[in-house]
Amino acid sequence: MFADLHLHTRYSDGTFTPAQLAAEGHRHGLAVMAVTDHDTVEGCGEMAEACARLGIEFVPGVELTAEFDGIEIHLLAYFMDIRHPEFLARMIEFQGVRQQRIRDMVTRLNQMQISIRVERVFELANCRAPGRPHVARVLVESGICTSHEEAFDRFLKKNRPAWVPKFKISAADAISLVHRAGGLAVMAHPGLNRADDIIPDLVTSGLDGIECFHTKHSTTTSAYYLEIADRFGLLVTGGSDCHGLNKGKPLVGTMRLPLVYVEKMKSRLAERRGGTVA
Ligand code: AMP
Ligand code: FE
Ligand code: FE
Ligand code: ZN
Repeated sequence: MFADLHLHTRYSDGTFTPAQLAAEGHRHGLAVMAVTDHDTVEGCGEMAEACARLGIEFVPGVELTAEFDGIEIHLLAYFMDIRHPEFLARMIEFQGVRQQRIRDMVTRLNQMQISIRVERVFELANCRAPGRPHVARVLVESGICTSHEEAFDRFLKKNRPAWVPKFKISAADAISLVHRAGGLAVMAHPGLNRADDIIPDLVTSGLDGIECFHTKHSTTTSAYYLEIADRFGLLVTGGSDCHGLNKGKPLVGTMRLPLVYVEKMKSRLAERRGGTVA
C-alpha cells in the first residue's frame, strides 16, 4: 500500500486531467494520491471525485514557489482547507503573477523576432496557473524549437533571453499561510534545490516536513534527507512529481511512499487541531 504525494494536472503544467491521473494511479495500485499543482487547487475537486470512484484516498495539495534569502524553494502544502478565503485570495494573486509573467516572456520573444502569440499560450495552457512549460509547448508547436529541453535551454531557463524573474512569497509567509489554512508545509525536492543551509531557518519558521523521496533523488540523497528529517523532527513525504506526458513517460506510480508516512502527517495535524484527521 503506497502513496504518491507529488502530482501535477492540466490545471498547472501537467498534461493529465485529474480523472486520467487517478486512473493511472489506480493502474499502479496507489492507495493514496495528492494533487500538487503550481499555485492552484482547481484540480482538487475533480481529483477527489475521481479518487473516490476508484477507492483511492485523496489528499488536497498545492506547490508554491517561495524564497528565503534570495534562494528559490518549492513548498508543498497538504491537507489545507481548499476553500479558506485568505488562502484562495493568495492563490489568485499568484495566478495573476504567472499570467503577467507569460505576457512579459512572450514580449521578450517577440522582441527577438520570434513571433509566437500570447493568446496561443493561454489557449494551450487553458488554466489559471500557466507556466514556462506552456510557452515551451508553443515554441515547439510553431517549429521554433524541436523539444521542450531546447526551448528551456535557448530561451526559458534562468538568465536565458526570455526568462523573467517571478515574484515569490517569502518562505516564512508561505508556511504561516499554509498553517492558517489548516495545512502542513513541506519542502519539495530538496535534492534539486541544494538549499540545505536554510533548512534550520525554515524549521524555525514552522516547516512541517521534507520531501525525502522524489523521482530525481538517488537512494543516497533520500537517505541523507531522511537523516535531516530525523534530526529536525520533520515529517517525511515523497512523490513522483509527475507532469503527465509533458516530459516523456508519465512518472505517476514510480515513487511509492509507504503509507506509514501519510499516517504520521495525519497524526501531526490531529495534534495541532486537537482532534482526528480523517
Ligand atoms: P514556472 O513555474 O513557470 O517557473 O516553470 C517551472 C516549471 O518548468 C517546472 O515545474 C518544470 O515543470 C519546468 N521546467 C523547469 N526547468 C525546466 C527545464 N530545464 N526543462 C524542462 N522543463 C523545465
Ligand atoms: Fe511543474
Ligand atoms: Fe517543484
Ligand atoms: Zn512539482
